[in-house]
Amino acid sequence: MASRARRRRDQSRLREASRVVVKVGSSLLVEKATGRLHRKWLQSLVREIARLRGRGQQVVLVSSGAIALGRRYLGLRPEQRKLEEQQAAAAAGQIILAHAYQELLNRHDIKVAQVLLTLDDTESRRRYLNARNTLQTLLELGVVPVINENDTVATAEIRYGDNDRLGARVAEMTSADVLVLLSDVDGLYDADPTREADAQLIPEVREITPEIEALAGASGTEFGSGGMVTKLVAARMALSAGCDTVIASGKRLRPLAAIEAGKPCTWFVSAGSPLAARKQWIAGTLKPRGQLTIDPGAERALAGGRSLLPVGVVAVEGRFGRGDAVTVRNREGRDLARGLVAYDSEEARRILGRHSEDFEQLLGYRGRDEMIHRDNLVLLNG
Ligand code: GLU
Repeated sequence: MASRARRRRDQSRLREASRVVVKVGSSLLVEKATGRLHRKWLQSLVREIARLRGRGQQVVLVSSGAIALGRRYLGLRPEQRKLEEQQAAAAAGQIILAHAYQELLNRHDIKVAQVLLTLDDTESRRRYLNARNTLQTLLELGVVPVINENDTVATAEIRYGDNDRLGARVAEMTSADVLVLLSDVDGLYDADPTREADAQLIPEVREITPEIEALAGASGTEFGSGGMVTKLVAARMALSAGCDTVIASGKRLRPLAAIEAGKPCTWFVSAGSPLAARKQWIAGTLKPRGQLTIDPGAERALAGGRSLLPVGVVAVEGRFGRGDAVTVRNREGRDLARGLVAYDSEEARRILGRHSEDFEQLLGYRGRDEMIHRDNLVLLNG
């Protein structure tokens, strides 16, 4: 039966992902009655992370809970909800959260690092690339990054405010294969499950249509800062980055194993892969800000799937910043590729034709070996 085949596919999705972003909602981590960390639950989640890592999968955690934990720690009363009070709570609660993750992951010999991001960090190209490179490096070093919004400096207009969308942005940034949104609902229903007894869970969504969006409004659940509406926005962001997304309940222990066992959840399935989506974005969406002309040796390297090194660049045109899109041409003026450049135009001019051991002297800092890394490069055929 088709639905059986679909179930089997859904079950293997998480198991086969090489990079997984898990977003954990406040309502799971913090006990409602006491405002304390739900340690038993966190221990079980950490055990699951160790299991995924044992299978060779990389895991990034996007964890909420700082504000809720900090409010209790600082003894804030329920009516004390001014932005600065919430920010003070975040500052205090984030340490508690980070400490708990470090302690529990250490028991499994897993190293952990904290990354706090603001909306700005993910919107400005330069900071986006910095954050992306840091996360990439942490993952290569075998670390589990624990991410939260930098609530203490984010003001109302420049805040995500919910970690669903932050999770989706992180999934896009890290080219993750799967984003898991763990909260206190099973997934997306075709009607409000709290009011209609025969409301059915939708197991798989391939396209977020207006009808699907209308269901989010009707699902009637409110949890953390983001309801189903922000989860759908997050799913849409992740899908366009080629990342499958699953909304699942974290109310049980071992929620990731439950997803793998085919327990109720909603999968949003992307049509392409993260790398293909990223390359399509580079090739199609971004407007090139400049041009690099390269020599025949570099042209061969590119055709062989390698990165573009400064030594192969013979001319730089235009004014661009680090992370901007540029066109790569050969000496005959034929467009060969498009990519995101690792240096701004001024720096690029300084290091063109040079080897990496000279960069420090030319730039004043060590810099990257590549002018355009191959992951950020798309060849234009023909
Ligand atoms: N960044 C907030 C916190 O750590 C949570 C946002 C959310 O609940 O999605 O408390």
